[in-house]
Amino acid sequence: MADISDADRPDTGGWIPPVVETPPVFVWPPKPGAFLKFIFGWGGYLFPYNAFYMLVSVGIWWFLIPDLQQMKNFEVGWISNLFIQNFIILLVWTSFWHIRLYVRRSQGTDFKYNARWPKDSETFLFGKQLFDNMFWTLFSGVPIWTAYEVVTFWAMANGYIPYLDMEAHPVYFGMCMFLVAFWREAHFYVVHRLMHSSLLYKLAHSVHHRNSNPTPWSGLSMHPIEHVIYYSSVLIQWVIYSNPLLVVYHLVHLNFAPAPDHSAFGRMVVNGKVEIDLATYMHYLHHRYFEVNYGGDGSVPFDRWFGTWHNGTAEAHAAMNERFKKKRPPSS
Ligand SMILES: [Zn+2]
Ligand SMILES: [Zn+2]
Repeated sequence: MADISDADRPDTGGWIPPVVETPPVFVWPPKPGAFLKFIFGWGGYLFPYNAFYMLVSVGIWWFLIPDLQQMKNFEVGWISNLFIQNFIILLVWTSFWHIRLYVRRSQGTDFKYNARWPKDSETFLFGKQLFDNMFWTLFSGVPIWTAYEVVTFWAMANGYIPYLDMEAHPVYFGMCMFLVAFWREAHFYVVHRLMHSSLLYKLAHSVHHRNSNPTPWSGLSMHPIEHVIYYSSVLIQWVIYSNPLLVVYHLVHLNFAPAPDHSAFGRMVVNGKVEIDLATYMHYLHHRYFEVNYGGDGSVPFDRWFGTWHNGTAEAHAAMNERFKKKRPPSS
């Protein structure tokens, strides 16, 4: 391979972040110090996002989720309550990011991976990216999310799936909470790779990939088939000992993570100085080049193991181009 220099890093038409370190989770030799820093340090596994999602989940579970006893039968009352609150929660969360970054444009294009603002086109429903994205999110995503939630609570209330008493088993409970985000990344890699098979891509995943210049509302903008597959991550709670709080956190994670991760801003600037990590460069590159980074930030190493990892370095970019060249049929 010819000499590769920094100039060969991918040019996405905007801010190029410093080279992203591979999360020190599945690395050899192990790096215990770096691992602990990644788990507990700022900008790592728990802080700020997953810890915040846990906090939100405790609030939702405490104030909004009915007692399991009340969910033994499918009844319009509690089911419609769950639907309405899910709808409002997602509307508020995603609007927060959208309004801040795309309506008020509070930091202009600072740290934006693509310096251009998204453009509406006929490929979108109603000819508008925002309306298209909101439509799929709120009228396909929310009902399918709620359906998973309702059936899970109903099954738990009736003793059809194993129930975890978290007061009796706090360590096991804490471990399950901790592992949800890792599980999600592994599940996302597998189902996302599946969504890129030609049939599922054509049928469903192309709806999400209309967003080559994504915004927070693009995160859950998916075809119903993809929503059914995406939210199936929560089915792990049916086979391990679980309880409503774990289910709520798992679903909050599924619903909250996509908005910041599709904001297309690598960092959010608060009060003109503090910078908080926002969208992973990895998923942004996926929207740009499609056949790379099916997983998340790489703490679960499937992309690295299966040769689809692109962390924004010149080497990874050259390897991707090589791979694409090999895949393309020779022109005759
Ligand atoms: Zn995406
Ligand atoms: Zn994709």
